[in-house]
Amino acid sequence: DKPHHEKLLIESRLERIDQIILVMANKGGVGKSTVSANLATGLAQRGYRVGVADADIHGPNQSRFFGFAGEHVRLSDQGLGTKNFTEDSLAHPVKVGSLAFLMESDDTPIVWRDAYKHDFMHHLVGSFDWGELDFLIVDMPPGTGNELITLADMLEGANVSALLATTPQDVALMDSLKAVRFCHERGLPMLGVVENMSGITCPHCSGEFHLFPRDHLVESLARAGIESLTQIPLALELASGSDLGTPVVVAHPQSPAAQAFTPVVDAC
Ligand code: ADP
Repeated sequence: DKPHHEKLLIESRLERIDQIILVMANKGGVGKSTVSANLATGLAQRGYRVGVADADIHGPNQSRFFGFAGEHVRLSDQGLGTKNFTEDSLAHPVKVGSLAFLMESDDTPIVWRDAYKHDFMHHLVGSFDWGELDFLIVDMPPGTGNELITLADMLEGANVSALLATTPQDVALMDSLKAVRFCHERGLPMLGVVENMSGITCPHCSGEFHLFPRDHLVESLARAGIESLTQIPLALELASGSDLGTPVVVAHPQSPAAQAFTPVVDAC
């Protein structure tokens, strides 16, 4: 029957994936996709075999971050094809799987009830041809809703951990701590927090300033017992990164923005 077949398919895919990292944020627009793309590419730069599963159903942007906007994938005996991002510094391509590759057009809004979302989460892991991977990075939808619960259930028993992207702002942080609580309750190990958009360097005077005060963040993280792994600056390279289609760790590896991802890669 269908559920049994689906379960076997997911199990057979998971058997060939060593480690899964869920990149979470309880809010949209705080840089979850940016972190996912650069973490994946940073791991690939170290020689790992990496996949990026775009679970952000309403904003499947990984296709853009890796320069595959508007492209489609084929179905073969091995499953749905991934789009493979290659570059000289990578021993293995980063394999990208996204709903965007299955949609007729890039601007089609997804209007799905929960049952469809539930099914898609299964397809994302089970139907795409991930092959042998050291890491599967999952760009989660914002929030602790249906998609997260479905994935957490599906991945029970697998080697899964979570990474949290947040801005140092109070509202974003408060929301993010809900995700922390979810992980805690589900026994998902938390690798740490990535503080995004944490500071700006003035292009004229090179002075640095912080847009959001960090005090609350530091306090709240300490209380929750979570480590802040890094502070990613607000940077032009990152603002245009999604549009250029090359993650900043490859496009500008020496930039402060790219260097700020190193501790995140180290933590995995
Ligand atoms: P999310 O996945 O949380 O919705 P994204 O990673 O898609 O967030 O980021 C939202 C937008 O902000 C994107 O256009 C991205 O390029 C930009 N962005 C993210 N982080 C930074 C940063 N540190 N500096 C400049 N722009 C950023």
